[in-house]
Amino acid sequence: MTIRVTVFGENVHEQKNRVVASIYPQGMHQTIADALNADPALSAETVTLQQPEHGLTADKLAETDVLFWWGHAAHGDVEDAVVERIVNAVWSGMGMVFLHSAHFSKPFKRLMGTPCNLTWREAGERERLWLTSVNHPIAAELPNHFELENEEMYGEPFGVPEPLETVFVSWFAGGEVFRSGLTYKRGAGNVFYFRPGHETYPTYHDANVQTVLKNAARWAYNPAPRIADPSAAPNVPVKDALEPIEERGPRLHQDGEEGYR
Ligand code: ZN
Repeated sequence: MTIRVTVFGENVHEQKNRVVASIYPQGMHQTIADALNADPALSAETVTLQQPEHGLTADKLAETDVLFWWGHAAHGDVEDAVVERIVNAVWSGMGMVFLHSAHFSKPFKRLMGTPCNLTWREAGERERLWLTSVNHPIAAELPNHFELENEEMYGEPFGVPEPLETVFVSWFAGGEVFRSGLTYKRGAGNVFYFRPGHETYPTYHDANVQTVLKNAARWAYNPAPRIADPSAAPNVPVKDALEPIEERGPRLHQDGEEGYR
């Protein structure tokens, strides 16, 4: 059984910025997919913003077990209809991993329901990630802490809901700290946010980061069949109640009616 992963790459700075293109000549999405494909349990393909429907058609999402998302400069160009399709897939059981500046992506903000804001600084400073949950599957095979010599700083307060689990915290050379690995459940879908990955630094070539990506794909995978309609809200008429009850008082709705949305 192979876990089918789709990596969405915005693919903007790789085309426009020479530094980013030199670090990721095939695009960040391809480097991420290559890292995932080094794990025999994973099979990763890529899609980009520039494809029709960003490559994320209903068929593609139906055959995606875990969707990875990297975006930064063009969050606003992601079509709202595709965002709704992604969010519904997560509610139905698709796993999703948001990387770095995806904290401001439309699907992440939609799933979190909060501003998802943070403080930041682009100074190539050292980031030290600490495991806060040593037995967590996303932290498997990692040392208790590891460093990225050059990273963008993201600092608290991070405007997200309280997570299910915090897997990593980061310390930055300038003094800030940040909750850099957070898990969520949204509907039937497992969601993970992982902070590192600014595009002007070689973060996705780092062996420890690649271990996190592989662990996250395995963790986010939900083997249960997808829920067909995760937003279904059926009416249960009196006659179908599990225990016999007598109807009392006035009502607005007919048996089996759709109800208001
Ligand atoms: Zn960044």
